Amino acid sequence: MATIGFIGLGNMGGPMAINLAKAGHTVQAFDLSEAAIKRVAEAGATAAASAAEAVKGAEFVVSMLPAGKHVRGLFLGDDGLLGQMEQGALLIDSSTIDADSARAVAEAAQAAGCAMIDAPVSGGVAGAEGGTLTFMVGGNSADVDRARPLLEVMGAKIFHAGDAGAGQVAKMCNNMLLAISMIGTSEALNLGVSEGLDPSVLSDIMQSASGGNWVLNVYNPYPGVMEKAPASRGYTGGFGTALMLKDLGLAADAAVKCGSSTPLGGLARQLYAMHAAGGSADKDFSSILQMLQGKAQ
Ligand code: NAD
Repeated sequence: MATIGFIGLGNMGGPMAINLAKAGHTVQAFDLSEAAIKRVAEAGATAAASAAEAVKGAEFVVSMLPAGKHVRGLFLGDDGLLGQMEQGALLIDSSTIDADSARAVAEAAQAAGCAMIDAPVSGGVAGAEGGTLTFMVGGNSADVDRARPLLEVMGAKIFHAGDAGAGQVAKMCNNMLLAISMIGTSEALNLGVSEGLDPSVLSDIMQSASGGNWVLNVYNPYPGVMEKAPASRGYTGGFGTALMLKDLGLAADAAVKCGSSTPLGGLARQLYAMHAAGGSADKDFSSILQMLQGKAQ
């Protein structure tokens, strides 16, 4: 069993840390929120008074922070956490951040005598709670293999995408595609219903025809078509519009940097920005259908 420093105990990090503790690891947990630390400590982790205390004596450090600036701010710099980690310790950063930040932290980790892999996830809060996340990992094979037993506690699928930063690139590409297919599926359903079709009948047809896709299979945006989808519970409890907008921003920035054309990704970003600005930032991202219907608040 390993000693793990876990930093960032929010909606995702909290249940991930709890799963590691339940699997028998020693989890030294820290967050800026005392309530978040308390929740995780009550489920078997050890409360740390600071990030430095969390990484003391830890052979692994897992971080699950909001964005690149938090990851860079915590780990880099003269008094950054990398300088306080144990020699040889492996940092697993599961935050969704830009690939350049991930590469910068990986380089600095190596210079500090540690190692780092980027391991962003998909699967949402339910996946974090159930230990069924999908990890998209960037880093060298030896480090990925070393992290694998911990990733297998927190997730069900682990993909090694390539070198440092590759996990973040894979995550960003996937979410850009997801946003595009959510908007496209919503448009098709809205058009069909406007022409008098039943959304369930149209969904069944498209699911089996050439328009079939993941959104139609498990995440239908039309209320009432799929009992367990966020659309059927008022667009709550899924993947928030604000988080999708963040990921589309990462894709847009990367596209500018590497000169790749992403016209539909760019349009999806604009549509999600309008939707968020219209008061739907906290709703599940499938609520983009309501914007097309003119129903978004
Ligand atoms: P969250 O806001 O619930 O949690 C982030 C936590 O980090 C907060 O508790 C905050 O207090 C803590 N934090 C911030 N700076 C810190 C610091 N310097 N030291 C210690 N703690 C600090 O966010 P979340 O939903 O758990 O998401 C975390 C990451 O996972 C994000 O990058 C997000 O894009 C990604 N993600 C989220 C989901 C989802 O469905 N929520 C799905 C996939 C990926």
